[in-house]
Amino acid sequence: MKICVIGTGYVGLVTGICFAEFGIHVTCVDKDEGKIKVLDTGRVPFYEPGLEELLRKNREEGRLFFTSDAGKAVRESKVIFIAVGTPGREDGSADLRYVEDVARTIGENINGYKVIVTKSTVPVGTGDWIRGVIASYRKNNEPFDIVSNPEFLREGSAVEDFLRPNRVVIGAGREEAMAVMKELYRPLYLIETPFVMTTVETAEMIKYASNAFLATKISFINEVANLCDSVGADVHVVAKAMGLDHRIGSKFLHPGPGFGGSCFPKDTAALLQLAEKNGYDFRIVQAVLEVNRMQWRRMVDKIRKVVGDLRGKTIGVLGLSFKPNTNDVRESPSVFIIRSLLTEGARVRAYDPAAMPDARSVLPEVTYVQDAYEAVREAEAVVLITEWNQFRNLDLERIKGLLRRPVFVDLRNVYEPDRMKQAGFTYVGVGRGGVQ
Ligand code: NAD
Repeated sequence: MKICVIGTGYVGLVTGICFAEFGIHVTCVDKDEGKIKVLDTGRVPFYEPGLEELLRKNREEGRLFFTSDAGKAVRESKVIFIAVGTPGREDGSADLRYVEDVARTIGENINGYKVIVTKSTVPVGTGDWIRGVIASYRKNNEPFDIVSNPEFLREGSAVEDFLRPNRVVIGAGREEAMAVMKELYRPLYLIETPFVMTTVETAEMIKYASNAFLATKISFINEVANLCDSVGADVHVVAKAMGLDHRIGSKFLHPGPGFGGSCFPKDTAALLQLAEKNGYDFRIVQAVLEVNRMQWRRMVDKIRKVVGDLRGKTIGVLGLSFKPNTNDVRESPSVFIIRSLLTEGARVRAYDPAAMPDARSVLPEVTYVQDAYEAVREAEAVVLITEWNQFRNLDLERIKGLLRRPVFVDLRNVYEPDRMKQAGFTYVGVGRGGVQ
């Protein structure tokens, strides 16, 4: 069976390469010809551990192809995955213009039975809408089915998440399409991955509900952390004890600067918008977003409280991506915090192992340096914002020697407050006492 994946971003490329790894003939399509050229030389245009090796392997074994000719890829494929971006619009709703472009191309090129699968995160009802767009561009009455197969991978561990997912969700209206999807995912059946087979609408909802729930856990623990700061309790111990309760679970209970990235902020906003459109006041998700915005601002307050007036001061920032192991700076708390520091007159020196080229285009005023130690040189404080592994074991004596004042603001609670105090730092974490 030949398939194509349209959109070779974080999701589309991982999907295409991993299906090739399952032994399927895959064509990855992108309208960005520059990206296709890079891919065609065996390189991945973004940072994702393990992906490039798999790309090269499957390309060499003759199962993986790249093109910017979407029409040809559609004509030659039985299954077409839509994996283009669905960014948020000003009002919070999902912008479906890229999905619409792809649906039109499919309609214009359909030449026999096809299964059209949405991997992009799209609001409930989009499957039906795509059906209408394809039907309106189709010349002959070629048959097709619409399937929703939302993606749950995490940037930074995307390959592992795709090859060994917690579950696969497939929403389809007809058995024929479901059978095609089962065939594609057969290798995951063999390792007993749970499959949830449902309708298109329910599958679309599962994705939004899942992301909104994870975002809720983050905002919840951040509020607990803020209260811990006031009452002198340690949020780490609180979260650990909470997480030992199986009904709660330990994941996503890490306090920090708030959630960011290309998914949680826009997906929670889109869910709110969907609720509003349907006359429902979704108060929890509304609060989750408000708390998140407040948390970003609170982090800047923490820095100001310990450094004082920021005008003319140099701050060393460690971490720019929204989380470790990715170069993605979309909606990164680090970008928000740095912007605020700059607005208040601070100078920022920053280091990130993978995200500096991306950050440069959104934060040109920052001085980018080659390692963590260069970032803190002559700074009034170091602020750790993204918990890359290489920031977990810093040479603290060296850091102290390079700083103007030994101030360590640890927005991911990577270090132990007592140890930092013993090492001679003024240490500020999130929800572990100290500066609020
Ligand atoms: P991305 O922005 O990294 O990639 C989108 C790609 O689509 C780009 O390369 C763009 O050039 C291409 N594209 C746009 N229009 C096209 C067209 N008409 N024809 C061909 N190519 C086109 O996006 P992403 O992060 O991979 O996200 C894609 C979707 O998956 C979104 O809906 C997102 O919400 C969802 N998702 C993302 C993640 C994640 O961690 N990034 C996880 C799960 C789901």
